[in-house]
Amino acid sequence: MKAFRHKNARTVKEAVTLLQQSAGKALPIAGGSDLLGEMKDFIETPDLLVNLKAIPGLNKIEQKGGTISIGALVTIADLAESSLVRTQLAAVAEAAVVIASPQIRNAGTVGGNLCQRPRCWYYRSEFQCLRKGGTICYAAAGENRYHAILGGGPSFIVHPSDLAPPLIALDAKARIAGPSGERTILLEQFFVLPTVNVRRENILKPGEILTEIQVPVPQNGTRSTYWKQMEREMWDFALVSAAVVVRQSNGPQGKVISHARVVLGGVAPIPWRSKEAEAALIGKPLDQANAALAAEEALKPAQPLRDNAFKVDLTKAVLRGAILRLA
Ligand SMILES: Cc1cc2nc3c(=O)[nH]c(=O)nc-3n(C[C@H](O)[C@H](O)[C@H](O)COP(=O)(O)OP(=O)(O)OC[C@H]3O[C@@H](n4cnc5c(N)ncnc54)[C@H](O)[C@@H]3O)c2cc1C
Ligand code: SF4
Repeated sequence: MKAFRHKNARTVKEAVTLLQQSAGKALPIAGGSDLLGEMKDFIETPDLLVNLKAIPGLNKIEQKGGTISIGALVTIADLAESSLVRTQLAAVAEAAVVIASPQIRNAGTVGGNLCQRPRCWYYRSEFQCLRKGGTICYAAAGENRYHAILGGGPSFIVHPSDLAPPLIALDAKARIAGPSGERTILLEQFFVLPTVNVRRENILKPGEILTEIQVPVPQNGTRSTYWKQMEREMWDFALVSAAVVVRQSNGPQGKVISHARVVLGGVAPIPWRSKEAEAALIGKPLDQANAALAAEEALKPAQPLRDNAFKVDLTKAVLRGAILRLA
């Protein structure tokens, strides 16, 4: 690991100032469970780490009126155990509890989970691929069993965060602090495809940090779930996953779905919202036939690579299962 300086930021403003002063050579660190691994492998070689964990107040989960506020420094373990999250945001709690190991859940934070870097094996080794400033995506014609089947190219990573799909499905917003002040955007707009930026997975500019996730309190009758399919039984990233949120109402033909959100994980360089699947569900009864139809629609745009065609059928099965869990 390259030698680096380490500074504790005591406020969000101080963190932003420190990062801005060393723009390009400084990185924020929270739990360190992803960043330190990257530094040991010389994938990231910052001169300065700005420790966010010394900032008070960013580790709280609380309801403020119609919004559930989740600070960026809330640990994944605290998120999984929060009664507010478990009762109101079931899909988020279900995702949190299947992330990595207890040790990583104790150290890893919500902000770090959403900002973690890809797990592509070329990226994580000595290959100087597109995402590291090179000219080739080695996965495109190489070993691509775990890579993207949707939205891929010119890089084919899959976004590794388990928290992002359920948070997006619940219409979460991200609060960002930076040199020019604060802004709040839909979390869905936080992530970027490689066609927009092949070097980064989100819109954060140097000097900007994520400070809070804001989730609207779901309307009465809203149900949500997260289904994660792993290769190993536990402690693994999602091979594919699906976050589904639905609300049903009584219509002239009986109970039908009046609100639907479908966000897939492990299939695309960003958490992949399927508006096709949502459209296939709206106005229909929540049953096997409509769950199967939604899954077919979601995967119609899929373009698998040489080794990962199996993910198409797997994702359909996972999505069907997740939808039917809410019946
Ligand atoms: C063995 C292993 C298994 C794992 N399995 C899973 C899994 O199954 N599912 C899953 O979702 N994840 C998994 N992870 C990833 C894990 O969840 C992340 O490492 C963790 O959430 C990162 O949080 P952290 O606070 O430690 O972030 P750090 O390591 O401190 O930071 C991660 C990145 O985010 C940046 N960052 C951190 N906080 C902020 C912020 N507030 N604003 C802006 N940038 C920030 C850092 O600069 C760095 O680039 C796994 C990790 C490991 C090592
Ligand atoms: S998928 Fe992305 S990270 Fe992996 S080799 Fe290709 S460019 Fe690099």
